[in-house]
Formats: sequence, C-alpha cells, structure tokens
Amino acid sequence: MPSFRAPRGTRDLLPDVRARFGRLEGIARSLADRYGYREMEIPILEQAAVFERGIGEATDVVEKELFRLAPRTEEAESWALRPEATAGIVRAYVQHGMQTLPQPVKLSVLGPMFRYDRPQAGRYRQFWQWDAEAIGDPGPAVDAEVIEMGLRFYVEAGVSDVQVLVNSIGDSACRPAYLGQLKEYFGRHEAELADTDRQRLETNPLRLLDSKDPAMAALIAAAPKISECLCDACSNHFEALLAHLDAVGVPYRVEPTLVRGLDYYARTAFEYYRRGAEGQQQALGGGGRYDGLAELLGGRPTPAIGFALGLDRVLLALEEGGEVRTRPVAPLAVVVGADPADTVTRLRVASLLRAEGLAIRAELAPRKLGRQLEAASRDHAHFAVIIGDELADGHVQLKDLEAGTQRLVALEDLAKDLARAAKSHHHG
Ligand code: AMP
Repeated sequence: MPSFRAPRGTRDLLPDVRARFGRLEGIARSLADRYGYREMEIPILEQAAVFERGIGEATDVVEKELFRLAPRTEEAESWALRPEATAGIVRAYVQHGMQTLPQPVKLSVLGPMFRYDRPQAGRYRQFWQWDAEAIGDPGPAVDAEVIEMGLRFYVEAGVSDVQVLVNSIGDSACRPAYLGQLKEYFGRHEAELADTDRQRLETNPLRLLDSKDPAMAALIAAAPKISECLCDACSNHFEALLAHLDAVGVPYRVEPTLVRGLDYYARTAFEYYRRGAEGQQQALGGGGRYDGLAELLGGRPTPAIGFALGLDRVLLALEEGGEVRTRPVAPLAVVVGADPADTVTRLRVASLLRAEGLAIRAELAPRKLGRQLEAASRDHAHFAVIIGDELADGHVQLKDLEAGTQRLVALEDLAKDLARAAKSHHHG
C-alpha cells in the first residue's frame, strides 16, 4: 500500500480549519464591497517572466522561492506558480485595457500563493492571501484608505493590537542618491557583511536594510535614513499620508528601515504587526505603492498601491488568543423511515426538502428505525421526519427531537412547516 502525504510545506485544510478560513474570506469580501474593491481571479500560474519582472530577479521570492514548472516541450514557455497576486493583477489590468476604465480600478483577489521556502510555523509553501489593489491613483489619500482597510480586516477578524509600520522609500528622483549613500556606507563596512549581503551591496543595496541577520542590526540602525534624502514631492506625499492616517485613527509607527527593495516601488511602504512582535520576522501583512509596475509589464505608467494580508498567520494569531473552533452545522432534520430498506423514499423526501432550501440529512443506512433516530440525535438535528404507513395517504410524522413531541404533517406542508420551525430555532 502506498503511503502518500501532502507535499512538504503544504497542508490539507480539513473542514474545521476550512470553515475558519471561510470566515476570514467572508470578512475580506465584505470589506471589499464596503470599500469598493471588486473581486476577480487570476490564474494560479503565469509566465515566469511576469514574476521575474513584476517582483524583480534580485529578490528572494524570485531568486530562491519561485515554484517553476518544468516545461512540457522544448520550446514551451516557462511557467511558475504565483508567489503573490500583485504582478498577476497588474498583468491582467494591462492585458484587458483597464486603463480606459474610470480610475482607480480597485481589485481584490483571495486565494493560495506558492513559495518554495523552508517550512516552519507561519511559513508554508502554499499559503493564503487576501490581496487588494487600487490601480490608477497617485495618492496619498488612497494610500491611507488602503492601509485603513487592511487594519479593519484584523479588527473584524478579532486580532487585537495590530499596528502599522510605515515608511516612504522615495521615488526615481530621490532614491538613486540614497542608494549611493547606502552603498558607500555598507561599502565601508564590507568586512562585517555576510557573503549574501555583500552580493546585495551590488545587486540591490536597499535589501541590506531588510536583513534579518541579528549581527546586522546595529549596522542597519546606524545606516543613512531614506527620510533624510526624500525629495520635496516624496516628503510632501509622506506627510500627507500620515495626516490622513491620523484623521482615520490608524495607529502607526514610522519605521525608517522598512523598505521594499525594488525599483518600481515608490514612496509608501507598510507592514502590519501585532504590538510587541514588530521585531519578529513575520509580518501579518504588508503592502506598498508600486508606481512603476504597470509600465514594466507593458502598460502605460500607472500609479498604484495595494496590500497582501496572509490569512494563515491571522488564524495562528487567533489560535494563540484561544479562538473557538467551529463545529459542523447540524441539519435541521433527518429523514428516517420505518422500513430500513426503503432508502428510495427517504432520499426522495430529503431531496424535496433540500430543494426548498433546508439543511436535511437523509438516513441512508438500512438499519432499524430506533438506530436511525439515535443517529439523528447524535447529529444534533432538531427534527426527525419519520416515514411510515401514514405515507399511504400523504402524511409523515414530524418529531421534535428536543421537545420529544411528535405530530402528523401532510407531506405537501412539510417544507413550509419545517421552514417555520427553522426560523423559531434560529436554524437552517
Ligand atoms: P509579502 O508579499 O512577503 O510581504 O507577504 C505578505 C504576507 O503574506 C505576509 O505578511 C504573510 O502574512 C503572508 N506570507 C508571505 N509568505 C508566507 C508564507 N511562506 N507562509 C505563510 N504566509 C506567508
């Protein structure tokens, strides 16, 4: 017998956990509606170049973590599983000419993402995100709106004490000079850098600020700050963003070392952390402004901002806080019968009731009526529909399993009767 397991870093979401994900998805969809984001789907795989360009080749996500698919033929294009949704959404925005719609176009995607990372708690190879993007608005007001929507997600999900770390990373006018300062600074400390960080000094010096190496902490703390290099336009944008965040009561902290290390990112960068967990590697979510991305993917220059919130980490945070686990929904009624062999009638009656929108289980095991009723109680059903001799003149027994009472009901009235009962039981 083969013994198969879910691939390393992936997991089955069994019904209890799936229901908890479903609750989070419901909150995300409700927020998307309230804030005017329309849900869409993008493929789970894209041409690898969408990510190579759209995320950047000199990033961990593309360099090390991209799930590349083996081409099926020699000349086949190269595909990869999506490690995030932004690049795919912007690819779709460009492909479908959404520049011609009234701007901004606000889009939302919910679904699994894939990164070939070393699995550990809160870090999986398949994980779920809610992603929202406002494309075609230069901000800064929309930046605050996006950040506030993300925060509200945590509030409504029940994760307490989330705060936002926020920074501006400048734009193509002022960042080059800052990068020069960074290179110069870390160049002076090259001997203290690990090999990977020394490479980053060449390919992507901003990422040095992202280093999680504890030995780097002091060096990073003393590094030049982007805030001191912002041009007037970026500096005004950031000040206005903070004023908008103040106005909507978002708790934030300006974090000068928070960066997104890619050229097409501009200005606003933010991450959500639980208070006290800011030093840890694992943000609950994050996002930023990426004014250069549409152009990189073949579109017109288009300012845009968005976030990606990790659902798995929200569930972990809720578990730590002792979230009550979900239980299966009890059926309103179970259809049982005096004739153990007559599964045809039980299935037919159940089907009739389900067609009326009721949650019904049909007892399909050919066992004695007493056993069928026991199973109905175990299911926490409120009623048993008992099929017996009365069916000959169109009636069934309706037993209230909680009250222990029983009465005769005409089959044609049964659905209405149960629906009424469902209401008074807050059920179904
Ligand atoms: P990022 O695009 O890396 O900023 O990710 C955005 C959010 O997605 C993070 O804050 C996490 O909540 C979540 N996330 C990213 N990578 C993983 C992973 N490997 N496993 C679980 N959640 C992840």
